[in-house]
Amino acid sequence: MKIDTVSIVISAPSGTGKTTLIYKLLDRLDDLSFVTSTTTRDKRLSEEEGKNYYYVSNNKFQKMIDDEEFLEWAIVHGNRYGTTKKEVDRIRDAGRIPVFDVDVQGARILKSIMGGATFIFIIPPTFEALKKRLKNRATDSEQQIATRLDNAITELKEYTMYDYIVVNDKIDSALSDLESIIRTQMLSKNFMEEKVRLILENNNDHPSG
Ligand code: ADP
Ligand code: 5GP
Repeated sequence: MKIDTVSIVISAPSGTGKTTLIYKLLDRLDDLSFVTSTTTRDKRLSEEEGKNYYYVSNNKFQKMIDDEEFLEWAIVHGNRYGTTKKEVDRIRDAGRIPVFDVDVQGARILKSIMGGATFIFIIPPTFEALKKRLKNRATDSEQQIATRLDNAITELKEYTMYDYIVVNDKIDSALSDLESIIRTQMLSKNFMEEKVRLILENNNDHPSG
């Protein structure tokens, strides 16, 4: 099966609740695997190396770019983030559905190389709610929060690139919307192609087979 037809790409302005939602989603849908990105950003206290991100120095990130290890990478809120080909291959080889967590720049690149993937944009109910969530999360400096809020406006304007928009007002309802989108996608003819092909290939006993 082609990788792009079985891939989910999720973006959201920082602080919307994307990370929270993605981890809950992974608990609900067994076939999904999170594509762990590589970043030069400092690790937050709540985060784990290899789970949330692979944390590397600027020099190491540059070497990875030079060695063409990335499927895509971008500078987001002043740090570098990228998806390695190796990470995607690992998930694809295990026959699982990769879930990419990338910003709008990353989504644009992924769209150009895997146009058949499902692109989902999560948005906050209001700008005020976004501000409050970033403040309450208490992981970023005032300056970082201001940068992230500025970038949120630019990112929100890119919503037309995505196939679906989920509003994260009440978390349970947003989670159920996300799950519905992905379950529906998993029933689409592109996802089902392989299954139908296998049934047809194994119909040898049937007279018209
Ligand atoms: P992102 O990954 O989009 O930057 P996070 O998942 O880190 O966002 O969430 C940002 C903050 O908002 C966290 O403190 C999280 O607990 C909180 N949060 C997430 N979803 C909701 C929601 N629906 N209502 C209120 N707070 C939320
Ligand atoms: P955070 O620092 O809040 O974890 O993430 C900041 C932003 O970087 C988010 O919009 C997130 O989606 C994006 N991001 C995370 N990993 C990648 C990646 O591999 N590539 C790109 N382009 N963006 C990423």
